Amino acid sequence: MARKEEASRKAFDEAKQYIPGGVNSPVRAFKSVGLTPIYVDHGIGSRIFDIDGNSFIDYVLSWGPLIMGHAHPEVVKALQETAVKGTSFGAPTLLETEMAKTVVERVASVDIVRMVNSGTEATMSAIRLARGYTGRSKILKFEGSYHGHADSLLIKAGSGVATLGLPDSPGVPEGVAMNTITVPYNDLESTQIAFERFGNEIAAVIVEPIAGNMGVVPPLPGFLKGLRKLTSDNGSLLIFDEVMTGFRVNRGCAQGLFGITPDITCFGKVIGGGLPVGAYGGKREIMEQIAPTGPIYQAGTLSGNPLAMAAGYTTLKLLTPEVYDRLEQLGARLEAGLKKNSIETGIPLTINRVGSMVCPFFTEGPVINFETAKSSDTDLFRRYFGHMVNQGISVPPSQFEGMFISAAHSEQDIDDTIEGHYNALKAL
Ligand code: PMP
Repeated sequence: MARKEEASRKAFDEAKQYIPGGVNSPVRAFKSVGLTPIYVDHGIGSRIFDIDGNSFIDYVLSWGPLIMGHAHPEVVKALQETAVKGTSFGAPTLLETEMAKTVVERVASVDIVRMVNSGTEATMSAIRLARGYTGRSKILKFEGSYHGHADSLLIKAGSGVATLGLPDSPGVPEGVAMNTITVPYNDLESTQIAFERFGNEIAAVIVEPIAGNMGVVPPLPGFLKGLRKLTSDNGSLLIFDEVMTGFRVNRGCAQGLFGITPDITCFGKVIGGGLPVGAYGGKREIMEQIAPTGPIYQAGTLSGNPLAMAAGYTTLKLLTPEVYDRLEQLGARLEAGLKKNSIETGIPLTINRVGSMVCPFFTEGPVINFETAKSSDTDLFRRYFGHMVNQGISVPPSQFEGMFISAAHSEQDIDDTIEGHYNALKAL
């Protein structure tokens, strides 16, 4: 059974005349899987509906933000009520403080937080802050991690960069790239060696506390603790990029899950509830180095935008401990089903999962870093993806991205997905 795609194909052809590659973010073009992108008409709960009349159980969820599902009634209501009062003022509003208070209450390491408009802005600003605060230039990141598309972070990056098989991006000046050190994820020894060599030049280590842009790769026991110690011992800052994990894996984010206290944390995705939001926060002493209290500059015409705050705040309020319990149950159910399918069909899979972040790698595994993630059979993945889409299941179009589950997914959705996954493996 193939999906209907005539309208989507036509729409894509037209878009390509006016938009680079027809898309406003590369992975949406389905280039690596060689298929026509799904042109979405609308979404509701766990499903999206395309312009060809197909419906899909959605595990992309706008690449993570929609933890409560598409068009959640309370989020929509908050947006409507806010919109009629005006959409942007460039002046402070009460909701910004409510939002900040909620983040500060939930995230142990955050004393104070600044809103921006995307994850990229959050990490870019956090790096500038770390450099300004320490007076040092170098940063250390991990291979296969993606921290947005700021120059200094586009080195050995994951996500779409990895999917398209691009090495470092043209356009990043050598002088910038020179200041980014990369080592393998989960490799404390290599990190230590980098510190022995460059210790007093490293402003910060930036890390995804659960890597989510080389597929899903949890931290090995002791890895984050080791980074905390290495940075503290060397006068460097520890930046947790929780753009993906923040408010997704735990009410207190990944740092709450693992009990590690970074100096600065970056947020995005869930914190905006489906609107363009990012944020960065941390120790007061560090954060107050940004303008207007300090000399390190960062600003934004639309930062703290009322609509964005309304969607984000409403989403955070909906995220009760019970929601996280439910996401864990759904995640465990999916993981168990995928594992069973792998055994029954004899197709080796490594299923990495933390809560509602799930990734089936087409490899024997284990997958602990970018190198081992790349041992996956991406051709098999590509064919599997086609079978999933044809059965009305929208999974990320790349082996190097994780699936996300929302609180709107039902047990039936999960079971239908497991069945579809079985059929897909059988068809390979
Ligand atoms: N950091 C991480 C960990 C991410 O996953 C992403 C986006 N996938 C970003 C930063 C960049 O966020 P944005 O796309 O909102 O700029």
